[in-house]
Amino acid sequence: MIPYGHQSIDQNDIRSVTEALKSDWLTQGPAIEKFENAIAQKVSAEYAIACSNGTAALHLACLAAGIGPGDEVIVPTLSFAASANCVLYCNGTPVLCDIKLDTLTIDPDEVEKKITPKTKAVIAVDFAGHSAEWDKLRLIAKKYNLILIDDAAHALGSKFKGEPIGSLADLTTFSFHPVKAITTGEGGMVTTNNKKFADQMRLLRSHGIIIRSLLDVRQGDSLSDLDWQQEMIDLGYNYRLTDIQTALGISQLKKLDRFLLRRRQIALRYIKEFSSIDEIILPPNHKNIDHAWHIFPIQFRSLDRNEVYNKLIKLGIKCQVHYLPIHLQPYYQKRFGYKLEDFPNSEIYYRRCLTIPLYPSLTDKMVKKIILSVQEAVGRGK
Ligand SMILES: *Cc1c(COP(=O)(O)O)cnc(C)c1O
Repeated sequence: MIPYGHQSIDQNDIRSVTEALKSDWLTQGPAIEKFENAIAQKVSAEYAIACSNGTAALHLACLAAGIGPGDEVIVPTLSFAASANCVLYCNGTPVLCDIKLDTLTIDPDEVEKKITPKTKAVIAVDFAGHSAEWDKLRLIAKKYNLILIDDAAHALGSKFKGEPIGSLADLTTFSFHPVKAITTGEGGMVTTNNKKFADQMRLLRSHGIIIRSLLDVRQGDSLSDLDWQQEMIDLGYNYRLTDIQTALGISQLKKLDRFLLRRRQIALRYIKEFSSIDEIILPPNHKNIDHAWHIFPIQFRSLDRNEVYNKLIKLGIKCQVHYLPIHLQPYYQKRFGYKLEDFPNSEIYYRRCLTIPLYPSLTDKMVKKIILSVQEAVGRGK
């Protein structure tokens, strides 16, 4: 069975992890800063803060943005639940928003309609690896004084109008889950150009504890240079990434460009083969965007998606659906009263979509099998 996504691990990755295991550090040692600097450089951001997963990265970003009770944060309903859950972790209110069918990313006009005096931030998702409309979102953020968060779990290596995803929003989050562009098993990163945000996220990812010698001298208190003295100055979390995971990340990052190239190669092959099939709607691929091709979601004009899914299973291809929109998740329906037809574009897309396999370690032979199977499942030439 060919899955929709899979990690690509080689001998260098294994060697890198083995060396970490033999080192003095297993969790958050010197390798973390090396990985952070490499990611920051890759995405042209000033600061990068590694953490335990992409969801923790979103939580840290919301904490840095100061999201709290009473604050509203606009989030696209077409995303993984974590994009909205992070707002709830901070006791803020996620305000769901529809997407545009020609981008599958948040609709800037709809965002503007949802702004109230309580709106504090907007989280946009670079869906499938296709950048959101950051020029329009930045104008809106400036006009209404909002903080922009980019959930770029799909988009490491993507660019919008030549600018890398990673510093287009105030805070950008990445995930290193095995299906993402590079993996650390579990892992995440937040990038930002804002030093205050960066300092706060570093503090909060490790219990809110600082080494006391770094504290400012308080009144009547002399600066200590004893680095065993640790003080908790904020309520933080244990969101640390381990050195074992980081060793894998550093090794994987060296291959990112190659991975992206292979993903692109396969995506272009799919586009070429499927563009003549009327039944298939191809994923958005706008000219001014460097697509990271995290996933390849196709849609069907008239066929029943579930029937195609089942046919492909029988042919040895395990597809996936990205995603059940957040407003249709039982938890969100129960808690916020969202209903069917609240966000028509996301629902149209959801009913028609199917993510076919796309990852760097697919061989040409596997790609050919996927193409033939999809053609067979939809009825060739129709
Ligand atoms: C994968 C993903 C996340 C969460 O990342 P984890 O590392 O699995 O916690 C968040 N948002 C989107 C859009 C994702 O695809």
